Amino acid sequence: MEEKIKHLLAAVVHPETGQDIVTSGFIEHTAAANGKVTVVLRFAKARDPFAVKIKNQAEALLREAFPDAEVLVVIKEGGAAPRPEPKQNTTTGGIAKVIAVASGKGGVGKSTVTANLAVALRNMGFRVGILDADIYGPSQPKMFGVEGYVPEAIAEEGVDHIVPAESMDIRLMSIGFFIKPTDALLWRGAMAVSALKQMIHQTRWGTLDFLLADLPPGTGDVHLSIIGELKIDAAVIVSTPQQIAVADVVRGVEMFRNENVNIPVAGIIENMAWFTPAELPENRYYIFGRGGARAFAERSGVDFLGEIPIVQSIMEGGEEGRPAAGIDSRVEAYYREIAEKVVSKVMKNG
Ligand code: ADP
Repeated sequence: MEEKIKHLLAAVVHPETGQDIVTSGFIEHTAAANGKVTVVLRFAKARDPFAVKIKNQAEALLREAFPDAEVLVVIKEGGAAPRPEPKQNTTTGGIAKVIAVASGKGGVGKSTVTANLAVALRNMGFRVGILDADIYGPSQPKMFGVEGYVPEAIAEEGVDHIVPAESMDIRLMSIGFFIKPTDALLWRGAMAVSALKQMIHQTRWGTLDFLLADLPPGTGDVHLSIIGELKIDAAVIVSTPQQIAVADVVRGVEMFRNENVNIPVAGIIENMAWFTPAELPENRYYIFGRGGARAFAERSGVDFLGEIPIVQSIMEGGEEGRPAAGIDSRVEAYYREIAEKVVSKVMKNG
């Protein structure tokens, strides 16, 4: 049986070396018992850009050969260490999981959700960073009260690094540190891509358990270049009840699911789901409609991660440079629930 598994997997070739994964020693473990076929692939590189593609190919082959079995292919990265080791030329190698936060349109609270999710993850004990790649409205510096920050470039052992800002124990690098709000939008797109590349590869993140990437709204060239530069483990989509029905959200999901992109969509977060007035704490007013995100999630086969109401402290936290999840326990509870779901999903994906 194990011979058969290896024989099948010998058809999977690593695009970089051109060699099959069996002779290159990627198969760390195989098991077939009780209707389950499990394979552990060990990637020598900390963040092999082809890891997910190879895992998917291996799973497809095994599913075809064992249609009645439950097939699971697990990726392990970076030699024997469970955590990826930083690479020489980029500190990005020290990041365990990258989660992209996306939305169909602007103004739905994508940046607010990113900031609060980061804080919730930090509260859970994780080391967290944010890459603010929203070239059209980089709002993370304001959300974390580090608007005037000028990233310093330093050379260490001949390697150039950019020092991220740090606030509430979260490391932050934003395209907003490099472009002025008055810069023409057209120019931004062109120069943003090269600036983002530098931010991705040169930021001295140190070791992070999670890097949250706040993407620009919609879909476009900037997304593709980020996806090409950064190995994203999962995407989270933020929508308001009104926006859920529009085609942009579908396009967002499709972008990640595209076969050339292949990034798992962890799920949808419904923001501004309802409003509760302070004097009527038991009442929920579904001002913009109810249940849309849940229904959309079911229709499109995406998980529903949770909903966040309209809360004054969320808006104020963004204005004051301290995300509400760090100060308002009610808000933290909403985000904690979502963060736990996201963590269990990305961990499951290997
Ligand atoms: P996006 O990143 O999608 O453009 P933002 O995160 O900048 O959107 O949010 C837009 C505005 O809505 C901000 O002023 C923010 O403070 C506010 N906001 C977002 N989510 C909430 C919420 N759940 N409750 C109250 N205000 C919110």
